[in-house]
Amino acid sequence: MSAATRAGWVTLVGAGPGDPELLTLKAVRAIERATVLLVDELVSDGVLAFAAADARIVHVGKRGGCASTPQAFIDKLMAAEALKGEHVVRLKGGDPFIFGRGGEEAERLRAQGIEVEVVNGITSGLAAASALGVPLTHREHAHGIIFVTGHARADANADATPLHWPTLGAAAAQGLTLVIYMGVAAIDTLQSGLLASLPAATPAAVVQHASLPQQRLLRCPLGELAREVEAQRIGSPAIVIVGDVLRGVSSLSQQVGIERAA
Ligand code: SAH
Repeated sequence: MSAATRAGWVTLVGAGPGDPELLTLKAVRAIERATVLLVDELVSDGVLAFAAADARIVHVGKRGGCASTPQAFIDKLMAAEALKGEHVVRLKGGDPFIFGRGGEEAERLRAQGIEVEVVNGITSGLAAASALGVPLTHREHAHGIIFVTGHARADANADATPLHWPTLGAAAAQGLTLVIYMGVAAIDTLQSGLLASLPAATPAAVVQHASLPQQRLLRCPLGELAREVEAQRIGSPAIVIVGDVLRGVSSLSQQVGIERAA
C-alpha cells in the first residue's frame, strides 16, 4: 500500500431525500467527523447541521442559480484534500449510487490510489412512494420495480440505446412499477411514449421535494400527466411513478396530505 493510499480517504455518503431524520447512523457519524464536505445541490441544510462547526463545506451544486461546479474540479478537490489527510465526505442526495454519478467519482478516486467508502442513503424514489402511501411491490399489483432516469445524458455515447418509453410501458403493463427520476422536464415525451403501450387511465403520480416540508403530491391518470404537471407547476426535483400499485391507496394518500398538490 502506498503512502498516498494511507494518507486519506473519501466517504461517499448518501444524504437521503431531504428529511434529516432519514439519514443513516453511519451517515451522521461520517458527517460529524468530516473535516471537508463537498455537497451536492439536493442535500438539505438540515443534513449539514450535523457537520462540525470548523468543517469546510463546499457547495458544488447549482445552488442559488449559479452554474454547477465542473465535475473535473470536484474530482480534483476531493483527491487533493484526501491526500492531504483530510476526512473528506462527499454528500450526495438520496443514495450515492442511484443516478448520482457516485460510481464514476469512486472509480476516479480509486484509480488514484485513494480509498473510497460508501454509505447508503434512502433514495428519493423510495421516499416518494412512501409519501404517496404506495407499497411499490404490492403483490396484488406488481412483480417488481424499475428505477429509470427520464433524462438522457447529453454526452451519451452514440452507441448507447436511447430510452424507449413504449418498452417501459410494456414492462409496466406486465406489473413492473416505474419509478422515474429526472422525468418532469421531459414529461410530454415520457407520457406519449408510455401511452403507446399503456391505457390512458393507468394511474400515475408525481412527488416533488419528497420528505421535505415543501413536499407536493400529484396523482392523475397517465393520459393527463403532462397537462397536470404543467397546471400544478411541478418542477424538479421530482419523482414520477407509473403503475397499478397506485390504485386503491387513496385512503393512505389522504393521510399524507395529497391536497398539498393544489
Ligand atoms: N442519488 C439521488 C438521485 C440523483 S438524480 C437519489 O438516490 O435520490 C436527481 C433526481 O433525483 C432529481 O431530478 C429527482 O428526480 C430526484 N430527487 C432527488 N431528491 C428528490 C426529492 N427530495 N424529491 C423528489 N425527487 C428527488
